[in-house]
Amino acid sequence: MTALFDLAFLPKFDTVEAERLHRKQRLAASFRLFGKFGFDEGVAGHITVRDPEHLDRFWVNPFGMNFKHIRVSDLICVDHTGAVVEGDRPVNRAAFAIHSQVHAARPDVVAAAHSHSLHGKAWSSLGRLLDPITQDACAFFEDHTLFDDYTGVVLDLEEGKRIGAALGDTKAVILRNHGLLTTGPSVDAAVWSFVTMDRSCQAQLLAEAAGTPVLIDTDMARKTYSQVGSPMSCHMSFQPLWDMITREQPDLFD
Ligand SMILES: [Zn+2]
Repeated sequence: MTALFDLAFLPKFDTVEAERLHRKQRLAASFRLFGKFGFDEGVAGHITVRDPEHLDRFWVNPFGMNFKHIRVSDLICVDHTGAVVEGDRPVNRAAFAIHSQVHAARPDVVAAAHSHSLHGKAWSSLGRLLDPITQDACAFFEDHTLFDDYTGVVLDLEEGKRIGAALGDTKAVILRNHGLLTTGPSVDAAVWSFVTMDRSCQAQLLAEAAGTPVLIDTDMARKTYSQVGSPMSCHMSFQPLWDMITREQPDLFD
């Protein structure tokens, strides 16, 4: 749905180097946030941002590094063949298989986030889309899909391609029996969408454990989506997290 929205709110840069640094700083901060939210599970999970100059390359976390320790200088850049072209650490093969195909399928996607967060993976096992049961869940109303298959750890580019196809033109996909994947026109938007999607999974799990949630009707869910689910809204909602993590953990800029 990103293509339908005005993206004039995104910051502008005079040089590609300045834009690259900006993207890498947002990415490093996002890993610190994922660590803080407990979204890490062993070596699983990756957030990527497209390089602003070489559009078939993306920046990502190195394989096996704790999210809570990642600095700007730890990020690696991977090309369309899976080769690490900047940085001296290896890439997680699943990160390449999934994210390279999502970035290839969707030129408008600047960033993509995936991890095995607890509520996201619990919800994913139900094989269902999220319902519009809260204002926040409406951010995903008619703007997420289900990858209704599970074939083991994603190491095959063909499987990544199928995930990219399942995402369609939406901002997020629930990978059945696996977890969530969110995208956006900025790191900020993709990462905020991940945070709020995991919480919406938690909210629906809690609500359905207690009873039968009342659904927001379709017209109101669409209206609310336009208010809380737009790229600008997702991007802006990230800013308090950015302010907190950069004040608390300034070494992420190293
Ligand atoms: Zn995964």
